[in-house]
Amino acid sequence: MSENVSSLLYIVAGVLFIMALRGLSHPTTSRQGNLYGMIGMGLAILTTLVGHPPAGFGAWILVLLGLGIGGGAGAVIAKRVPMTAMPQLVAAFHSLVGLAAVFVAAGALYAPQAFGIIENGHFHKQSLFEMGLGVAIGAITFTGSVIAFAKLDGRMSGKPIMLPQRHLINALLAAGLVLLIALFIGTESKAIFWLIVLASLVLGGLIIIPIGGADMPVVVSMLNSYSGWAAAGIGFTLGNLALIITGSLVGSSGAILSYIMCHAMNRSFISVILGGFGGDTAVAGSGQVETRPVKQGSADDAAYIMKNAERVIIVPGYGMAVAQAQHSLREMGDMLKKEGVDVKYAIHPVAGRMPGHMNVLLAEANVPYDEVFELEDINGEFPQADVAFVIGANDVTNPAAKTDKTSPIYGMPILDVERAKTVLFIKRGMGSGYAGVENEVFFRDNTMMLFGDAKKVVDTILKSL
Ligand code: NAP
Repeated sequence: MSENVSSLLYIVAGVLFIMALRGLSHPTTSRQGNLYGMIGMGLAILTTLVGHPPAGFGAWILVLLGLGIGGGAGAVIAKRVPMTAMPQLVAAFHSLVGLAAVFVAAGALYAPQAFGIIENGHFHKQSLFEMGLGVAIGAITFTGSVIAFAKLDGRMSGKPIMLPQRHLINALLAAGLVLLIALFIGTESKAIFWLIVLASLVLGGLIIIPIGGADMPVVVSMLNSYSGWAAAGIGFTLGNLALIITGSLVGSSGAILSYIMCHAMNRSFISVILGGFGGDTAVAGSGQVETRPVKQGSADDAAYIMKNAERVIIVPGYGMAVAQAQHSLREMGDMLKKEGVDVKYAIHPVAGRMPGHMNVLLAEANVPYDEVFELEDINGEFPQADVAFVIGANDVTNPAAKTDKTSPIYGMPILDVERAKTVLFIKRGMGSGYAGVENEVFFRDNTMMLFGDAKKVVDTILKSL
């Protein structure tokens, strides 16, 4: 296959990836988007295999084994992973992209002829730059993602670990890295290459370790962006157009998503990129026990109140995902609509544990899209609502974000549920949410707590209705 044809096919694959991203931006078109992405990836792999066929039988076996093992493991993991564990899975996958960037750069360093990046015994300067930068981003992504995985998966405390002088150490390490990359370009030294890897591995860990609790979602999307840039770096080293396009798409879409999430959580984008933002105050984990009295109700009470309401706004959160209550919830919504109640769903941008988590679950339960509203579109409607039905959400409704400057979630826009006439709160106990802070709404006069597993409580409400 000529270079022109393979370049053309790579561009077609790139267009398919862009169509995939476009499709994934809305639940109605997301399946189609996924399909475009799969076709694009298949085309890119085939073009690479036909355009640059593996040299010999042994190499073919290695490639096919890689495809079989990687593809097989990916398929099994994707089938088995519960939706609530998706963020840590994404973090784990990012770590592999980072590691791949390190291996490819090392491969290019030790076998430059295969990559066509050496002439008269000297590397092309541009290739040295790409390798140095690519390997640094790859190694930072690797350790950063491993730590994000460990924190999100509960294998490491989610609490921010404050290292003394961390900003100074990070700045020194980053400056050292720039120096090492310059030295690497000048000397072509393998030892300096590995020093770059080492310094980047340490920097990746140091950036993520101090980040805790409420700030993790932005970290995952930021690492997503890093992994994209690492892949684009490999693309330059390999001279592979498809990788450059894909890596840049992932890098820029991850950066845009990080920006949007920062905006949603009122965090500064620059401080996120530098790492360790917000960690000074964030406290992850739950389990605070509160002794003040709260008003407690039963499923019958909730059914009665909602049946007699005119407007009900449902606020789903992480607990709904854990309990898999979305189908029962949709049935409840349908039943209330039959009773003449106006039912709407309010989605906070960081509700749940991954971007779009609630949208995906509600779409899975066939909740009509025109009943689902984003924070800024529905927040003004709570004062007119008779009931705010909060199911397994906590942090995203916590007014401390507006009033308590010392709170780790201070500044994050929240859903103003407390402004509804009655707030029904479904959760299992008095445990706090992801950010580990208490929610004053539990103790308000217009709040009724419905303790229990979200699905069981909604099923009982359904029976009462
Ligand atoms: P949340 O603040 O974590 O609160 C979830 C609540 O659900 C908990 O208080 C828990 O209380 C309850 N719960 C758990 N299992 C339940 C079950 N089976 N039945 C009923 N209730 C259950 O959730 P959120 O309001 O959705 O806020 C999301 C938080 O996660 C934010 O702090 C956000 O920053 C963070 N985060 C978001 C993302 C993202 O991308 N969306 C990623 C990572 C982290 P009990 O224990 O008392 O039941």
